[in-house]
Amino acid sequence: MKAVVFHEFGGIDVLRIEDVPDPRPGPGEVLIDVSACALNHLDVDIREGVSRFPVEPPFILGLEVVGRIAELGAGVEGWQVGDRVMPFLMAHCGECRFCRTGRESLCTSAGFISFSTSGGYAERLACSTKHLMRVPDELPDPQAAALQIAFGTAWHMLFSRGNLRPGETVLINSVGSGIGSAAVQLAHIAGATVIGNASSDDKLARASELGMDHGINHSTQDVVTEVMRLTGDRGVDLVYEHCGGKLFQLGLDSLGKDGRLVICGGHSGEVVPFDIIPFFRAQKSVIGSFVYTRDEVEACLELARRGRIVPLVYRTFPLEEVAEAMATMERREQFGKIVLDTSADRDAAAEKRKETADEAARG
Ligand SMILES: [Zn+2]
Repeated sequence: MKAVVFHEFGGIDVLRIEDVPDPRPGPGEVLIDVSACALNHLDVDIREGVSRFPVEPPFILGLEVVGRIAELGAGVEGWQVGDRVMPFLMAHCGECRFCRTGRESLCTSAGFISFSTSGGYAERLACSTKHLMRVPDELPDPQAAALQIAFGTAWHMLFSRGNLRPGETVLINSVGSGIGSAAVQLAHIAGATVIGNASSDDKLARASELGMDHGINHSTQDVVTEVMRLTGDRGVDLVYEHCGGKLFQLGLDSLGKDGRLVICGGHSGEVVPFDIIPFFRAQKSVIGSFVYTRDEVEACLELARRGRIVPLVYRTFPLEEVAEAMATMERREQFGKIVLDTSADRDAAAEKRKETADEAARG
C-alpha cells in the first residue's frame, strides 16, 4: 500500500510517500480501507519529535480515520466486510480502575491509533474491533473524519469537565481552530451565551454563523476589557482554553467569581506564571481535560446525523499532496479541518488501471 512515512524527526521535508507492506489484521482485528484521515496539530508535534509521547521513527501519522472494513481477522464477530467505520482514538483495557469508573480517557494501558497501530496517512490500517464505531450514512467521509477529535474534545471539556449549564456564559479561545469552532457549535445548542476570540475578523465572522454571540479580535482588542464590558463586569462562568501562554492568562483574568477554566492544550506557551491571590480569593478553578469518551463521540455523531452540528472541512488533499496539506495547517490560515482524501488516490489509481486495460484491449 501507499503510505506517508517519516524515518527521522523534522520538518515537512522528512515525509516520504512509500510503498509499504499492507498491515495484516491479527485475531480480533480488522483491515480498513482508509477513505479519509483528518490532520491534527499533534501530527506536527509527533513529526518534529516534541510531542512528549513515546514515538520512534519510522512512523506513519494519522489519528482520525474513516474507511470501510476490507478484511476480518480471526474470531471477529458483529462486523462485516464493507461496514463504514471510524476507529475511536483509543482502545481501552476495560479493567483498570479508571475504565471501571467511567473515566476511560485516563486508562492506564490505552492503545492509541497510530501509536499502537499504524496511522491513517495511508491506504490501509489494521486495528482491534475495540476501536470501531459505525459512521452514519448521512455524514460524508471527510466530514466524518473531521468530527471525532474536535467535537469529542469539545464535548468532554464543555460538559463533562467544565459542567457548562444553560444560561451560563462561556469564553471560547481561538474560535477559528477545529476544537474552537466545535465548541462554539456545542455551547450554542446547549443554551449558553458564547463569547469567542480569534486573531482575525474573518474567523470571527465565520464563528458568528455557527452561533457565537460576541466576538473579540485578540490581536486588536483587549480580551479582558471586552469580556468585562460584555458581562457587565461579572466575568464569564467558563473559559474554554486550548492555547496556553497569553490566552491562558487572559482566560483566568476573564473568569467571574467561582468561574472555571478548562484546558486541554498549551501550544502557545506550556509553562506560564500564575497569580495565586486573585485566583483563590475569587474561588476560581483550573480543570485539566484529556481526550474524550466513546459515549461523547457517539452523541456528537448523532447530532451531526441530525444536522444540529456540522464538522467543518476547510480543504481536502490527496495523499500525494500531504506536504502541502501539512504546510497549509502549519500556516494556521484554515477555518475548520484539513483532511487527506485517500479515496481520491484510490479512484485515480483505479482510473489509471482502467485506461491501461482499455489501451491493452484496443492494442
Ligand atoms: Zn483501562
